[in-house]
Amino acid sequence: MLIAGKWVDSAAGEILMVENPAHRTPIAEIPRGRAEDVDRAVKAAAEAYPAWSRVAPRERGKLFLKIADALEARVEELARLIALETGNALRTQARPEASGTVEMFRYYGGLGGELKGETIPLGEHVLSYTRREPFGVVGAIVPWNAPSILSAIKIAPALIAGNTLVLKAAEDAPLCVLLLAEVCQQFLPPGVLNVLTGLGEECGAPLANHPTVRKLSFTGSTEVGKLIMRAAADRIVPVSLELGGKSPSIVYPDANEDWVVDGMIAAMRFTRQSQSCTAGSRLFLHRDIFDKFLEALVKKVEKLKLGDPLDEGTDIGTVINAKQFKRVCGYVEEGLKRKDARVLMGGLPPKEGPLAQGYYTLPTIFADVSNDWRLAREEIFGPVLVAIPWTDEDEVIRMANASHYGLAAYVWSHDIGRALRAAHAIESGWVQINQGLGQSAGHAYGGYKESGIGREFSLECMLDSYTQRKNVTVNLTH
Ligand code: NAD
Repeated sequence: MLIAGKWVDSAAGEILMVENPAHRTPIAEIPRGRAEDVDRAVKAAAEAYPAWSRVAPRERGKLFLKIADALEARVEELARLIALETGNALRTQARPEASGTVEMFRYYGGLGGELKGETIPLGEHVLSYTRREPFGVVGAIVPWNAPSILSAIKIAPALIAGNTLVLKAAEDAPLCVLLLAEVCQQFLPPGVLNVLTGLGEECGAPLANHPTVRKLSFTGSTEVGKLIMRAAADRIVPVSLELGGKSPSIVYPDANEDWVVDGMIAAMRFTRQSQSCTAGSRLFLHRDIFDKFLEALVKKVEKLKLGDPLDEGTDIGTVINAKQFKRVCGYVEEGLKRKDARVLMGGLPPKEGPLAQGYYTLPTIFADVSNDWRLAREEIFGPVLVAIPWTDEDEVIRMANASHYGLAAYVWSHDIGRALRAAHAIESGWVQINQGLGQSAGHAYGGYKESGIGREFSLECMLDSYTQRKNVTVNLTH
């Protein structure tokens, strides 16, 4: 772990194993951080804070431009590490995530000068202005599904805004986060960035509850997000939450075309085993095109190659661990048992052969699903797509919104007026029309409803999530 600029073991000397999910073999040992380690890290961050917060914002930003260059020189190493520990395929997922991470440091590195305040026109006798000031020590917790880029979007905006940070990596994918920390540490003063490894309850919870932490930023499940928010409530600290989703994808009858099928495959994140909070996992297909569209979709998804994540020919790798594997299989079993659902492809993973060596799950599509089934309501975080027919626009919007989540949504139509109408009516923080891409630098990305609070990936993220505004008013008549 990185504490106060030094690489350290956990105070108790305990370790956790990191597993390669494609072979179910151990690949590394990491420290098993606990409350005592959290305390050491928070102390280091608090000590580094006064000096760091006084560095001019553009100077802080410049360091991140250097970090981006240094990371770019190691981007392939980062990509391979992501693939190795997450099971995400190198070509389709890990490499784009690694270069996206570099891009995030570069994007935020350029934004230091944007930490501007405003003047309030109260008259010639008064100077009244606002400053954006950092909070102090930020505690951040990240998940394993896109560990590198999700860490970058906490580290860069939090630090450039002048805070110091204690970041807890996910226990299943800490190695790429430690590599990021190694590169950052070449340029940052000791204690500005501290990175801990450990389990959620043992290491994450003490961080969320630490009295010196003045701001919390969490990406992960809605369930744990609620715990973080409760911890924040106890001390009245601001909290940003990026949580789960069950995102709708609405296809209008004029969009029964090949490019829409491709876009839908991308939106469903099949090549990340659909372990994505923004996966378009509820496919609302107009009844007129229902069967034809699904036929084309199945044909294309069947062509995606499952295999070793590090193999260049692989499109789809493995899910992260035994627990997720079992969970995804449980949902598939439930669908297979229902007489009123049609399974169009996939099903349970093979019990023998090369794919049985890792946590490989099969892309699975159920048709004629009802929007109130568990399969259509709960976030599966695996490659299980449910297709639901619709005929009336109001009805499909109602179904799309009948969810406690509200993270992403996708709308497919040539009729842009109609698509925009739908986009405005959907209760989600991010709607894409006629594309199913990932987040880009500059997007104000975040959830409605139980999908979260706050926005990331943007300037707004740095300003709103990592600074507090102070007003200074001066009487000029004396
Ligand atoms: P998780 O909530 O179980 O774990 C996330 C992180 O929280 C891990 O580092 C974990 O160790 C830690 N944690 C677990 N219990 C904790 C506790 N009691 N106190 C403090 N920390 C604790 O989620 P996961 O299974 O790692 O990730 C999958 C979830 O993350 C999905 O629900 C997914 O939708 C969500 N996610 C959301 C976004 C987004 O941007 N909205 C992005 C990626 C993932």
